[in-house]
Amino acid sequence: MDQVRDLRLSRRAALGAFGAAATLPLAGAAEAAAPITGIRAPDWYRFRIGEFEATVIQDGPLALGEPSGGFPQHPKEDLANLLQQSFLPTNALTLDQNCLLLNTGRQLILFDNGVGFTRPFGPNTGLLLANLRAAGVHPDQVDALVISHAHIDHCWGIIGGDGKPNFPNARVFISKADFDYWTAEDRQNAQGFVGDFVKGARRNLLPVRERITFVEDGKEVVPGVTAVSAPGHTVGHMVYAIQSGNSKAMFIGDLAHHQVIMLRRPQIEFAFDTDARQSAQSRLRILRQLAQERMALVAYHFPFPGLGHVAAEGEGFGWYPAAWGADI
Ligand SMILES: [Zn+2]
Repeated sequence: MDQVRDLRLSRRAALGAFGAAATLPLAGAAEAAAPITGIRAPDWYRFRIGEFEATVIQDGPLALGEPSGGFPQHPKEDLANLLQQSFLPTNALTLDQNCLLLNTGRQLILFDNGVGFTRPFGPNTGLLLANLRAAGVHPDQVDALVISHAHIDHCWGIIGGDGKPNFPNARVFISKADFDYWTAEDRQNAQGFVGDFVKGARRNLLPVRERITFVEDGKEVVPGVTAVSAPGHTVGHMVYAIQSGNSKAMFIGDLAHHQVIMLRRPQIEFAFDTDARQSAQSRLRILRQLAQERMALVAYHFPFPGLGHVAAEGEGFGWYPAAWGADI
């Protein structure tokens, strides 16, 4: 308190010394404490991949609660040890949502688009549009929405609360397998999370059906971006290789959700996987390739901005975040 009072006194003294107190009606207002806003700071982070400009735009962190909820088959003690050794809370798992905006000079491409207006994970999520504007980009400018898979946190930002597309000029790219699975009419009443995910995917993907192009393994999506099949987490889960000149990076979607648990234990089964074994095979195959080629990656759920490298270590991988501001 004393420090605050001293600052106010010195401010008055300074104003007085410059003879400004008489012209500025601030003396009274300065006594009122400003309310604590609690508003999250904009999360966007810009770097280059060769000639391309990349910007990671956060949709807000997903608080998943007790870690064992996501990994019910895995020993709780091992999860707790892994988290504790990494100086992370052992009683609560948080996953960021790193949407990747890529300006190739020809097109503006947004990889995945968050949970949207329904904000089922609370008011600190569904922030993509606000953070996009904070980064100097208007949704009208986006040419392509490239989607890793049709889960709630990756494609529910397509349609706004008014039922209209948030990105009115964008074409949509997704695998046919994921589109078919998650928009199937007869799957709406499926057990557990699946039914709700299907309803949300239908709400977001069916209104833009005419604008959808299906991506295929090994095929170019737009110049500089190639789809790579990585099934398991969902039937048609895709990751995307980005290349400009000799600079390469991979947008890995949900190939790995957590930078410690799923890299140190790459065989682990995640509760939201459609086929956990197949997911682990895809994870191992692509992470090995990224480690071997020392290729940079943007991980959708790793700590913001999710840009870095993986290295093969023991039975799994280590995560090495990129230096702040470093280009690829
Ligand atoms: Zn996800």
